[in-house]
Amino acid sequence: MLSTMQDVPLLVSRILTHGSTVHGRARVTTWTADAGPRRRTFAEIGARAAQLAHALRDELGVAPDDRVATLMWNNAEHVEAYFAIPCMGSVLHTLNLRLPPEQLTWIVNHAADRVILVNGTLLPLLAPLLPRLESVEHLVVVGPGDTSVLDGCRATVHEYESLIADRPQRYEWPELDERQAAAMCYTSGTTGEPKGVVYSHRSIYLHSMQVNMAESFSLTDRDTTLPIVPMFHVNAWGIPHAAFMTGINMLMTDRFLQPAAIAEMIEAERPTHAAAVPTIWQGLLAELAERPRDVSSVRQVIIGGSACPPSLMRDFQERHGIEVCHAWGMTETSPLGTTSHPPAGATGEEAWTYRFTQGRFPASVAARLIGPSGEVMPWDGTSTGELEVRGPWIAGAYFGGAGAEPLAPEDKFHDGWLRTGDVGAISPDGYLTLTDRAKDVIKSGGEWISSVELENHLMAHPDVAEAAVVAVPDAKWGERPLATVVLKEGAVADYATLRVFLTERVARWQVPERWTIVSAVPKTSVGKFDKKVIRRQYADGKLDVTVF
Ligand code: ADP
Repeated sequence: MLSTMQDVPLLVSRILTHGSTVHGRARVTTWTADAGPRRRTFAEIGARAAQLAHALRDELGVAPDDRVATLMWNNAEHVEAYFAIPCMGSVLHTLNLRLPPEQLTWIVNHAADRVILVNGTLLPLLAPLLPRLESVEHLVVVGPGDTSVLDGCRATVHEYESLIADRPQRYEWPELDERQAAAMCYTSGTTGEPKGVVYSHRSIYLHSMQVNMAESFSLTDRDTTLPIVPMFHVNAWGIPHAAFMTGINMLMTDRFLQPAAIAEMIEAERPTHAAAVPTIWQGLLAELAERPRDVSSVRQVIIGGSACPPSLMRDFQERHGIEVCHAWGMTETSPLGTTSHPPAGATGEEAWTYRFTQGRFPASVAARLIGPSGEVMPWDGTSTGELEVRGPWIAGAYFGGAGAEPLAPEDKFHDGWLRTGDVGAISPDGYLTLTDRAKDVIKSGGEWISSVELENHLMAHPDVAEAAVVAVPDAKWGERPLATVVLKEGAVADYATLRVFLTERVARWQVPERWTIVSAVPKTSVGKFDKKVIRRQYADGKLDVTVF
């Protein structure tokens, strides 16, 4: 028997229409260097998104399913593109501006982008790639920048404000199939070639509802969120869509991502919430220790993208009274997988134990652990395996390239489940603890050593600013850990002290004998420790390693 319910498609245009009317007074505030913050209401964003859609269709000839890319910072115009492109039936492709030029070129060609919206300040980055971008017909320059670098380029160049000016402020958004492509994002390639993930209207809609749930970010129209996580990194973790759904004000960093600028904007604009990867927060805490600012408006920060060291969480809570919520996800999971709110009744140290985990799965994300011989492992908090997930906003395949069918490589998808490449355990009450990425775990003499656990202990030492541990080949044990450590300014700790510190915290056989002090841990395009680079530096003999 079928239900008697209406069959209404879940579309991004519904989120936009709702946000720009019911929450029309909510604001997107964009930080600037010296002109003061730029403010735009959701109603204005809605009107300008309609104007942009008219311009793309009528002037540039953008058709349904065409890919329209953005190479932009987090700002109000990027939000306009976020809505205009999917709502008109085309596909928003957010480009990661920190990728190396060859990868960016490969991605644009693979996605067959017809148009690129680019911030004027990013033209020097884009211009050298243009001769090799095969599909790009139009460039739309957003904001000031030196357009002379585009002289001689094949694509037609437009200026954003003049392109959208005088166009109708309403658009009859088409009634699309909710399974249709709305947006796409390539994985940042921490562990291999970038792969294109294509989100549907339905997946974005359902994911936005989850982001807003109390068990996830629990944001309402009384909040202002500061998504420091870039809009090209898994849709800024879904925050812009979620914001239009419930009227959450947004504070946008634009290109001002230095710790001092972030501290300044928090003090001036008083957001209640913020989201970023751990390295950003490490930087902010160091900045605040040196130059205190009033960050008391912030109620909660979301930390995800890589493991958040427990010491970082405690510092936020104890020094600034800010609650940290650890979250796990990936490009393939939209990204919300887990969030680490302790269960009802947990207080004190017990609550901390829950906070340190990657968090709890929501109802819509099913999870299982697969052990070394392919068996499903129990949720007992200790048995470990590779995490597999399944749900309405989890990828079931990758984008196959111009005109091709979606790809479902054997090693990533398994009986309808996504293989995450992450290894960990799940407690009986559904809290995930990741011990490593399958590719980063150190296999020493038939036993596994968690690189993340060693890093967390090292980063808890008062003299250590950052620490990354990688597996290096070892004649006797197969692999052994190499510790790369960044010391805080004026720190006195030496290798011997750090070794003793670790020996008191982990099994003796897990303590690294190879150590190196570096000035910075290499980072990926989205600010994660780049262990591929460290392993290569070690192999090439470029690290000054002390062996005990
Ligand atoms: P890439 O795979 O290129 O790094 P993603 O942003 O999709 O790009 O990264 C997803 C991966 O990041 C996850 O598979 C996991 O290994 C790691 N990750 C994300 N959040 C966390 C977290 N809270 N703790 C530990 N690892 C995390």
